[in-house]
Amino acid sequence: MNEHATKNQQAFYEWLETRNPNQPEFVQAVKELSGDVFPIVEDNKHYQDAQVLQRLSEPDRVISFRVCWQADDGTIQINRGWRVQHSGLIGPYKGGIRFHPSVNESILKFLGFEQTFKNALTGLSLGGAKGGADFNPQGHSDAEIMRFCQAFMNELYRHIGETKDVPAGDINVSSREIGYLFGQYRRLVNNFAGALTGKDIEFGGSHVRVEATGYGLMYFVKEMLEHVDEKVADKRICISGAGNVALHAALKAIDLGATVLTLSSSQGVLQHKKGFSEDDIRTLLSKKGSSSERLKSLVNSETISWHDDQKPWSVECDIALPCATQNELDGSDAKKLIENGCRWVAEGANMPCTADAIDAFEDACVPHVPGKASNAGGVALSGLEMAQNAAFVSYDFDNLDKRLQDIMANIHKRCTGDGKLSDGKIHYRRGANIAAFKRVADALVAQGIG
Ligand code: GLU
Repeated sequence: MNEHATKNQQAFYEWLETRNPNQPEFVQAVKELSGDVFPIVEDNKHYQDAQVLQRLSEPDRVISFRVCWQADDGTIQINRGWRVQHSGLIGPYKGGIRFHPSVNESILKFLGFEQTFKNALTGLSLGGAKGGADFNPQGHSDAEIMRFCQAFMNELYRHIGETKDVPAGDINVSSREIGYLFGQYRRLVNNFAGALTGKDIEFGGSHVRVEATGYGLMYFVKEMLEHVDEKVADKRICISGAGNVALHAALKAIDLGATVLTLSSSQGVLQHKKGFSEDDIRTLLSKKGSSSERLKSLVNSETISWHDDQKPWSVECDIALPCATQNELDGSDAKKLIENGCRWVAEGANMPCTADAIDAFEDACVPHVPGKASNAGGVALSGLEMAQNAAFVSYDFDNLDKRLQDIMANIHKRCTGDGKLSDGKIHYRRGANIAAFKRVADALVAQGIG
């Protein structure tokens, strides 16, 4: 970029930071994308005149609301809920709901922003949104979780709908919570519509939705390795997290012949000297309780050990898959991975690598795939759930699994299209950011000012 362009980029960052004080995650996500697309904007008069970057850095709307509910002991509890509808340019708002004490407006704005570009990469007609509350279902009774979900939906229902905004799950929101949310939505609007995805199969859910993010991640990794004439089989993989994404990525990795060496929670790492078996992972999937409790229950004296307060990133591996949460893998973790010979990194979570970590991978020429490309399988399957609901049909597992593979292969193709370097190597982050941005920015220009 020339000096003038660099100055403009700096001015844009200052504008962004001033408009979004105390929102570090949101600023981080916008910078990660704009760093790659700025040269494209500078070269395109339509994009400049339309101020695409500035407009796409402002959510369409942020809805914030009180969630009051009654605990089992009769006390009244007060939480805060949000829905960030980031962009409706290329389809109905679409994105998950997260229940976690760390949830705040910055985190949901970053997630809504990421979702817009992730959804664009799927090739489907899906806008971007994210929602949630500063509520932790862990430690609450089933009845309390139901009352919380109902109270949350008592406000959210007026903002969603099958062609308006379609929430789904995210951290701590899975089948049980979606069931309670959907039930309350249906009662309030007196209409059976696919206004949420991730539903149980019995009432409009889709096969493969539960597996889709983790399986999709491994389908993307398979494409990436095949692109350089390598195979997933026999590769050593470190995975972080113990939720839906981590465990289904582990299952698919094992199915493809890889060795999965780690899983983790916020309290430590579970390590298997020889690699977890499919049975180990299925046992974890069937267990209830906190991630740490479930992981620790697998420890044995021969092969499986637990390491308090550790992360998986000091374990030697070929592939690292951060599948837990934002900013879980920092610059020093990246250095350890690189020193230990890690050759590929693909994000299963949303923005799990810090800016420092991404720089370290780039400097060491370790391909790093951003979540907006590699974890898009979940929302893509949600798009297929919406299509099935709209047509009142239900496809079988194999059909949907095949469609998921095709979607991930197409996302890989989009990354290689816009991310090819002069030496023929692929810069995945740049490819993903540019391909996604062009689709959304073109829609913004075409739809005029508003
Ligand atoms: N929460 C998932 C994501 O981050 C899925 C969203 C959806 O299915 O709408 O992409």
